[in-house]
Amino acid sequence: MKITALYIHIPFCDHKCIYCDFYSIITSDNILNFKSALKKEIEYFSNIYSDNRNYSSIFFGGGTPSLMQPEYLQEIIIHLKNNFNVDDKAEITMETNPGTVNKNKLKSFKEAGINRISIGIQSFDENELKFLTRIHDKQSAIQTVYNAAEVGFENISIDLIFNLPNQTKEKWIENLKTATALPIKHISTYSLILERGTILNKLVLDGKVTMQDDDYDADLYEAAIDFLLSKGFYQYEVSNFTKPGFECTHNNAYWRYRDYLGLGPSAHSFMNNKRWWNFSSLKKYIAEIELHGHAIMNSEHITKNQMHDEYIMLALRSSGLDLIDYNKRFNNNWINKNNDYFNLLKKENLITIENNWIKLTSKGYAVCDEILKNIL
Ligand code: SF4
Repeated sequence: MKITALYIHIPFCDHKCIYCDFYSIITSDNILNFKSALKKEIEYFSNIYSDNRNYSSIFFGGGTPSLMQPEYLQEIIIHLKNNFNVDDKAEITMETNPGTVNKNKLKSFKEAGINRISIGIQSFDENELKFLTRIHDKQSAIQTVYNAAEVGFENISIDLIFNLPNQTKEKWIENLKTATALPIKHISTYSLILERGTILNKLVLDGKVTMQDDDYDADLYEAAIDFLLSKGFYQYEVSNFTKPGFECTHNNAYWRYRDYLGLGPSAHSFMNNKRWWNFSSLKKYIAEIELHGHAIMNSEHITKNQMHDEYIMLALRSSGLDLIDYNKRFNNNWINKNNDYFNLLKKENLITIENNWIKLTSKGYAVCDEILKNIL
């Protein structure tokens, strides 16, 4: 049985945040047409990829899946389960924005089959939230976490962004303090990145916003690692921290180089060493599904070399390189070739080598890109 992950892209949002480059649209037209197209896409791929596969996670991302009604997602979950061999204990995550859910709606999402909530809080500071053009404030962010816990979600994750313009280290630590006082099990934290085509990028180009420099970014990142480790979280990927037992099954599938099937506009898939991605336009997506049953815009076959480098990169950025699995997949002398360098990294306390695993230390995660540049 091949373990496989399922990603569903729900493209609807309440508004466009200034930093966001995910495919999302503000209109609510086509919500029903999207659902019928998605169901057809599910049927199309289940005819190809249902045998000998165990689907261990479903992830509703976007966009803002929590804008949908719980019955809407429930219908999709049921359709997925009717068409794929979804594990009884599958992790089913929904990205959730404070300001789109109250306690009753969260309860209904739980009843609909969602068992993990990933809340896009980004900051607990009112000025930072305004800068990011989020629709929620500090209080509604906190309340959403408590509401989720009270209706029975045990597996709650939040997203936080750091290195915002003018963000001091004190302010960033204050955000982390507020976060870790909440009943959450997992934190994903990313520095603010300038993506092309975003409103933020234009503001920076026009000289209206100044970004902070990379050294400061590294300082804030290291401060986050120290703080979160001191609060009982452990780091299992460059940007992800968890309480023991709450690693994200879905993200682990990406990082351990497992297959994943992405459905919905702009979704990416990686199955049987082939990668493809869907059209990033809802109208085009619906039209293509009508015509062909799928909405693939383009695809690439992954070469053996690409596969090797991607595998190393994903493994080292997350829970480490499993040498037994590596040797099963790739028959070469790459490890021997890099032996001296690995020993040097070990001496500098940047990696550990134990029980056939090479793993970055917290200090190593902070210079992960540099290490990868040297070995790939
Ligand atoms: S809510 Fe999320 S997906 Fe929607 S625009 Fe904002 S960051 Fe992007």
